[in-house]
Amino acid sequence: MTEQANNSLWAKTRHSEIKVNILDHEAVCDMAIIGGGFTGCSAALRLAEDGINVTVLEAEFSGFGGSGRNVGLTNAGLWIGPDDVVKALGSAYGERLNALLSEAPSLVHKIIEDNDIQCEALRNGTLHFAHSEKGMDDLKKKIEQNARRGIDLELLDREQTFELSAAENYLGAILDKRAGTIQPLEYCHGLMKAAEKAGATIYTGTPALDIFKVGDLWYIKTEKGLLKAKKVLVATNAYLSKICPDLERTFTPMYYAQMATDPLSEEQLENYLPGKNGTWDTRMVMRSYRTDEAGRLIIGTIGNIFMNNAPLFTSWANKMVRDTFPKVGPVEWTYKWAGRIACSKNYVPNFHHLSDNLYSINGFSGRGISPGTAIGREVADFMMEKKTAGELPLPLKSPENVPFNLLRQAFYETGSQLTRIKDHFL
Ligand SMILES: Cc1cc2nc3c(=O)[nH]c(=O)nc-3n(C[C@H](O)[C@H](O)[C@H](O)COP(=O)(O)OP(=O)(O)OC[C@H]3O[C@@H](n4cnc5c(N)ncnc54)[C@H](O)[C@@H]3O)c2cc1C
Repeated sequence: MTEQANNSLWAKTRHSEIKVNILDHEAVCDMAIIGGGFTGCSAALRLAEDGINVTVLEAEFSGFGGSGRNVGLTNAGLWIGPDDVVKALGSAYGERLNALLSEAPSLVHKIIEDNDIQCEALRNGTLHFAHSEKGMDDLKKKIEQNARRGIDLELLDREQTFELSAAENYLGAILDKRAGTIQPLEYCHGLMKAAEKAGATIYTGTPALDIFKVGDLWYIKTEKGLLKAKKVLVATNAYLSKICPDLERTFTPMYYAQMATDPLSEEQLENYLPGKNGTWDTRMVMRSYRTDEAGRLIIGTIGNIFMNNAPLFTSWANKMVRDTFPKVGPVEWTYKWAGRIACSKNYVPNFHHLSDNLYSINGFSGRGISPGTAIGREVADFMMEKKTAGELPLPLKSPENVPFNLLRQAFYETGSQLTRIKDHFL
């Protein structure tokens, strides 16, 4: 049921080289991070910049998990709106998280610039499309909630939306100029390299197999080595494997599938996202469209491309292109991949206290590029004792089960399948 290798467009078109560095001896550090995605690498960069002796253990390579398979929208905020964040966390944590995540795209694009990360970064705003009158109302609520927090988002009408996107069937959109697009796998790899340059030790191809305490130190066993650390952060999100089984119950896996063409012709590109903005829409089973530097058409939606019959996905994607960008004409799908999202109980990331000096961050619920980068740094500050738990944007808590987890997972997958079937007939 799961996908293993990262066979995404991003993995197949990457320019950066992967060098494997397996831990094959006994090593000691002050802080260890398990997981080399955005969250782990961002925390490692922050710690290393402060002169902390930090080591990252990554089971495969930078961006093997969600960080190398996603859509690449450097969006602000979470999937849920700022008022719902406050409902979930209370006003102190909630407003702190809202403020942090509003600024988080700037942080991502600054890290990219400062470290000269070659990841096709474009900060031209993202478009959140309204697919219906109800979708338009949802966008207006989002604008109002942000305006109360001093953030101006631009609402485009149908014509303005068409002008920027050439998308035929949307009623309007929010243009959020805080955000943009990246080649996510290259960004993740660049973050890992930046952490290494700042002094972090990075081991790849090195799954943590067991973790236990001896005296004041955590011992992390790997196939060929042992890492000892005073403090440990587990940053494995939906790709958790082999360790901390308690974390499995704290999120619901949900799949998101994408397909991409070879580069379009210039004429096709005039009729497909001419403004080059990354986009997603207000549907419950949302759709995303974006392009990359080479000019590919990239479409995405909720569901697992590997669990179902890929021909259904292909004909669904063909119909979406015909309906939404009719002037593009027929396309061939060269790349197909899916990635696992970790949905937390309330769609807000979890910050867990697993044991003395053992912490975890997960449950990014499909919004992890800017949040993973920003929250990784906050947790690093906490681990360095620059901030107390009460000063963070998330409450520190014990792992909690997501109620009816298997049922929730089945609901996501079945709902996305039924929507795809319905899309074929409408
Ligand atoms: C298809 C898809 C589309 C998305 N689109 C967007 C988007 O457009 N914008 C956005 O903001 N967010 C998006 N997201 C969400 C975002 O990608 C994730 O929230 C983010 O990548 C999580 O980063 P992370 O570092 O926490 O986890 P990951 O990137 O999943 O990294 C976890 C790492 O832990 C490693 N690991 C696991 N177990 C072990 C172990 N035992 N030992 C050592 N290492 C281990 C894994 O190999 C993996 O590399 C999307 C997600 C998916 C799947």
